Amino acid sequence: MKPIHYAIAPLQPEAHLFAVTVTVDAPHPAGQQFYLPAWIPGSYMIRDFARNIVRIRAQASGKPVALTKLDKQSWQAAPVDGPLTLSYEVYAWDLSVRAAHLDATHGFFNGSSVFLCADGQENQPCTIDIHAPAGEAYAGWRVATAMREAPGRGGAKRYGFGRYQVADYDELVDHPVEMGNFTMGSFRACGAQHDVVFTGRVPQLDLERVCRDLKQICEAQIRLFEPKTEAAPFLDSNRRYVFMTMVTTDGYGGLEHRASTALMCARADLPARGKEEATEGYRTFLGLCSHEYFHTWNVKRIKPAAFVPYRLREETYTPLLWLFEGFTSYYDDLMLVRSGRITEKQYVELLAKTWNGVLRGNGRTKQSVAASSFDAWTKYYRQDENAPNAIVSYYTKGSLVALALDLTIRAKTRNRRSLDDIMRALWQRYGSGFYAPGAQQRGVTEAQVHALFDEVSGLRLGALLRSLTEGTGELQLAALLKPFGIKAVTTKPERNATLAGISAGDLLAAVDGLRVAPGQLDKLLARYRDGDSAECHVFRRDELHVLPLTFAREPAMQYTVTAEGGRQAMRARWLGR
Ligand SMILES: [Zn+2]
Repeated sequence: MKPIHYAIAPLQPEAHLFAVTVTVDAPHPAGQQFYLPAWIPGSYMIRDFARNIVRIRAQASGKPVALTKLDKQSWQAAPVDGPLTLSYEVYAWDLSVRAAHLDATHGFFNGSSVFLCADGQENQPCTIDIHAPAGEAYAGWRVATAMREAPGRGGAKRYGFGRYQVADYDELVDHPVEMGNFTMGSFRACGAQHDVVFTGRVPQLDLERVCRDLKQICEAQIRLFEPKTEAAPFLDSNRRYVFMTMVTTDGYGGLEHRASTALMCARADLPARGKEEATEGYRTFLGLCSHEYFHTWNVKRIKPAAFVPYRLREETYTPLLWLFEGFTSYYDDLMLVRSGRITEKQYVELLAKTWNGVLRGNGRTKQSVAASSFDAWTKYYRQDENAPNAIVSYYTKGSLVALALDLTIRAKTRNRRSLDDIMRALWQRYGSGFYAPGAQQRGVTEAQVHALFDEVSGLRLGALLRSLTEGTGELQLAALLKPFGIKAVTTKPERNATLAGISAGDLLAAVDGLRVAPGQLDKLLARYRDGDSAECHVFRRDELHVLPLTFAREPAMQYTVTAEGGRQAMRARWLGR
């Protein structure tokens, strides 16, 4: 049987349309069904990508074949003998890392937005022809993807248009593709090739510096998981890794894949040639890269059992995102300090920022990180004005849970064991070689995670682990940080107004008879002290209301965290290279 064959072409870049075909050599005898995913792994929300399919038709042996729509994302072709081809257009105008985007400057797509899956044939290998847009204007376009070039005639050259190949549908939708006139650099980390691609104009981009810094971060991570072999994780399926970044004025975000990541960042965050200062923005960019790269192990290979295999037609529930997103968030900054990209002082400041951020949300007293993980589909990913009161982030609190566990294990074993050992054990048992041909793919369950913590640490951590992940009590971080020479002291929280009775959507018109001009609210409120009161005028819909206003400090605790002179040895084992 021939591989399932896809072809994709930017049909009209100005109209944001990709033309796509899929040909199935041996369609189901009762009529082949096709579907498009409703969500993309890494972003736990139903997005209904099929709504962007504009025109669709089927044919076999040059003749039209009847095609019936079954639901919002599925079609069934009438029974045919021999190869069946579906042709359709996809509207691509979503400038994010999650879908597809096409205009005259570049094209980007995730397979989950453009490639229909032949139902029941998910395990078939696929070939993909990626075509250049027609016209002289596009003569300089290249292709960036971690997808492997097909061998032989018609096979794409590295970074070129032409034929690519994948082992199955899961791989097809796990290699996003960027095409255009991008800027590209490369480096080797522990011997493995990494490409760094930037789309969008960035004057004076210091690409060498970006590559130098990423190399340090990638090597620190590879050595964390594979201290002996120093083997990069993606070598089970790909020879190289691709960081692809879309640069805009204020973009931020990333999505992890098995051998690449799609990122968005702000232009001002990228370093310029000849300017060596380490800006906050550049640290943020490196933190994002570090986060997505860590996912190459944690969630792309070590996976929750519910994700093996991914079921992309509906929500897939797991209580474990605190491990896959929270621990990844813990290690993203930790890897920056361990690889020497930020100082110990800067790292400790980042910890304080995360901690204070979690304390500001009242939702932490109502929702556990396990519950937040499970309900990600309808709560974390669909936040409304009530979110701070009802939701805790499995990213930020999850990273503090990782910190609490790491420090507990280190303190109780005198640094002989740590969270690093837990991650390595997860990797060895569930992740290593996940995509190697013939590998037995299995995910990890909550019970297995709990058992592994005890086994690897030699401690009894069940009760602590449960209270951290299933409870809503405050984290005792100050006491945990102390043995590492890090002092956390409570500081006065920021002053805030208690705006009694003001609701989402209200228009605040005046405070004490003074109009609230755009951008002037903070200045206006700064004139008041704790305990002061004022009157405010508020429009709800089209009715004017007069409401009382009292000023008070935020009830949440706030901490200032500083590394002290002592206990450097304990700290060095944790934060040092
Ligand atoms: Zn993540």
